[in-house]
Amino acid sequence: MKSGCVSRELKAAGAIPGRADAGVNLPGYSRTGIRKSKTSRWRGAALIALNLFMVAHIIQWRLMGKTVSPIEPSETMYTLQNGFVNAGFIFFSLAILATLIFGRFVCGWGCHILALQDFCGWLLKKMGLHPKPFRSRLLIYVPLGAALYMFVWPVVYRLFSKPAHEPIIPKFTNHLVTTNFWQTFPSVAVAIPFLFICGFVTVYFLGQKGFCTYACPYGGFFGLADKFSPGKIRVTPACNQCGHCTATCTSNVLVHAEVKQYGMVVDPGCMKCMDCVSVCPNDALYFGFGKPALLAPKSNVIKRHYSLTWPEEIVAVLLFLGSFFAVRGVYALVPFLMALGCAAVTTFLGLKTWRLLRAREMSFYRFNLKSSGKMHKAGWTFVVLACAWIGFNVHCGWVRYHEFLGNVSFNKIRLPDELALAQLDPARWLSPADRENIIQGREHYLAASRTGFFPNSEALPKLAWFEYLLGDAEQSVQTLRTAAAHQKDQSKALSLYYRGAILNRLGRYEEARATLEEALAERDDLILARQEKGESLWQLGRKEEAASVWTDAVQRNPQLVLVNNELAGAALASGKTEESDAYEKQADKFTPNDSLYHWMLARRLQALGMTQLSKKHFEQAGQTGSGSETPNEP
Ligand code: SF4
Ligand code: SF4
Repeated sequence: MKSGCVSRELKAAGAIPGRADAGVNLPGYSRTGIRKSKTSRWRGAALIALNLFMVAHIIQWRLMGKTVSPIEPSETMYTLQNGFVNAGFIFFSLAILATLIFGRFVCGWGCHILALQDFCGWLLKKMGLHPKPFRSRLLIYVPLGAALYMFVWPVVYRLFSKPAHEPIIPKFTNHLVTTNFWQTFPSVAVAIPFLFICGFVTVYFLGQKGFCTYACPYGGFFGLADKFSPGKIRVTPACNQCGHCTATCTSNVLVHAEVKQYGMVVDPGCMKCMDCVSVCPNDALYFGFGKPALLAPKSNVIKRHYSLTWPEEIVAVLLFLGSFFAVRGVYALVPFLMALGCAAVTTFLGLKTWRLLRAREMSFYRFNLKSSGKMHKAGWTFVVLACAWIGFNVHCGWVRYHEFLGNVSFNKIRLPDELALAQLDPARWLSPADRENIIQGREHYLAASRTGFFPNSEALPKLAWFEYLLGDAEQSVQTLRTAAAHQKDQSKALSLYYRGAILNRLGRYEEARATLEEALAERDDLILARQEKGESLWQLGRKEEAASVWTDAVQRNPQLVLVNNELAGAALASGKTEESDAYEKQADKFTPNDSLYHWMLARRLQALGMTQLSKKHFEQAGQTGSGSETPNEP
């Protein structure tokens, strides 16, 4: 410490220049002799208020049933993909605009993950542990890459994959208010480990802003915008390079060096927390407007010290990618941001363990892991924990590999659901290659579920479909029951619908009815579940109730071909021929001129005992198609 940086209060307290870390005990100063930040209290209050506001938002939604859609940047993806204008999109747009002018204030003063990281840093310091920053040259590009993947890739993809009649920009619709606030968020059981890994584990291993530096996609855009902003932390000639600012900065910015070199802080990692301004003993720093960082001269670039050598940087990138692809989406549980946080931690642990095994001396925080080539207990503990973490990643990779190949097989299925569900065993529609593909897909899903630690709620319904297509309908309904137990909302309703449909084919009508009612309780607008429920009731002899459920279905969608046919059959059975004709005409209006479709209608009506209509469609099935694929009437 330079003597010029020792304030009057410290001099009076007897602080010795250059020995500030010997410890002083003056109000307003830390033990290292650096002035305590006054703005940190304001920032803490702002972050606490932010968290309280988030809690209030959720409570208001729970109480009133609807609320403003989540004020969360990730919601912007739905705006770009589907044209949903929501509160998250508006917030993110305004935040980027504000960053372009004032710099990266939003991160420092308005992010709940940063609040969590600061809280963790504060807790660790209370325990005497000071997180050291992990500095990588290459991994700092992860946030920008993640931002491009989240927000630019969907637009590019849409551009090249959209059907010709669809516009490039989706039609904007108002989604500012929602009744399903939690729809796009992971379940609470996932959110807790998510916050723990992204808020705590990353800080412990990678430094106080570990998640912001190596994972946060929003930070990727905010960092970019900060380079253009005229609002910067700037310096006056009063600076005498004491380094208090750098020692205080939790964003790992070399403040003293940057202000000396450029007259301002140019590092896009600066989150404008204003701590450096507050602690400077000469009041040499201020926030002000001027040239943006982009126009700073590039000569004499400040030499930075990195945690990794160049070969290690390459290994780090490979480790990061390996871990990311292994854990992302595994068990349909790990969301994108959590996978990025996990991958950053895996990278650190992998490289640190490798170094620990080779080095003669190594410590971590205050733990002496190895000295004079001898591994200590703390060292072995570190190795065991790191191997457990990395082993878990490898296991996730194995499960993910099978899930991925199962998905590939599933996506190759071309058999329409209606045709497969026309009668109990759809084997007649499968070519040997289809069958082989389905068997392989089933094996991959089974391998994933046998070795996995958790059920995969997205893979289970697909496994059930494989089972059904292979003729094992009994097993399929069991798998769908398990799937529904781990799902919610739309996906749960769909699993229950398919279960009900297969139970109908199995002739277990009472079970089918109950399952379809569960599906409708989950999603009242699932019209196909009404169609199937009507069939269960019809088969149970509750014909009036069946007709009433079908009527409800056609009132919601008058173009339903099978339901109109079923209503025609029901009316005919009660001797109401005029009504029956009207439904039949309505059905014919929307019936595709397709032999297989007619065959499917014929089978369903035949199963309900509506023989007259069934016969008509069997005949049409023979007439309209080439005939080669149309099965003979049994
Ligand atoms: S700007 Fe930083 S280096 Fe300069 S006097 Fe202030 S605290 Fe010390
Ligand atoms: S450079 Fe200053 S304002 Fe920026 S993050 Fe560091 S301490 Fe905060």
